[in-house]
Amino acid sequence: MGLDPKDIKYVVISHAHGDHIGGAEILQAKYNAQVVMGGPDWDTVQSYPNRFKSMAPKKNITATDGMKLTLGDTTLNIWLTPGHTPGTLSYTFTAYDRGQPVHVVYSGGTSYNFPTVPAEIGIPQLDVYMASQKHIAEQAAATNATVLLSNHSSYDHANYFNRMFAGRGDGPHPYELGTDVVQRYFQVMQSCAAAQKILLEKEVAEGK
Ligand SMILES: [Zn+2]
Repeated sequence: MGLDPKDIKYVVISHAHGDHIGGAEILQAKYNAQVVMGGPDWDTVQSYPNRFKSMAPKKNITATDGMKLTLGDTTLNIWLTPGHTPGTLSYTFTAYDRGQPVHVVYSGGTSYNFPTVPAEIGIPQLDVYMASQKHIAEQAAATNATVLLSNHSSYDHANYFNRMFAGRGDGPHPYELGTDVVQRYFQVMQSCAAAQKILLEKEVAEGK
């Protein structure tokens, strides 16, 4: 893409799972990039530095809710969205398509892959997850986000959109879904967690 890794100033990690933190240590050591991560996920990396080989960057910057990182004319707004991991980060930012501003929301932890059983652990975790989805949905609404990116290309359909892009012609950018679709995505995420919570509550009520 013609980009030089020496120009990387920040590496912003959505969460400290192996498939998202891989390479961060190398970018930090080789190019002096500053690594940004949520506090609890820094704790995880520091507690288990050998958990994933070459994926334990040294602690640089701990993200806070509403933190802004500005480079040139681009500002990344960082939001704390615990759930998928305790330190998961999501973002809002503005990109430009053919000179026009396009507002983007990036959801850093789409699936709730934490233990949902036993219920006394699962129910509060699902509550945290739902609150985070609501939080980032509000930020997406406040910025009129029409593009949704997520932490896997199968979640946000980037794998399809990238292929569609080649045939775009004069049409709209395939990533632009509109504000309603973006908001419905976050509603579905909250509804799925709510359904899971009901299931656990039912098990508790039935004494399982
Ligand atoms: Zn993950």
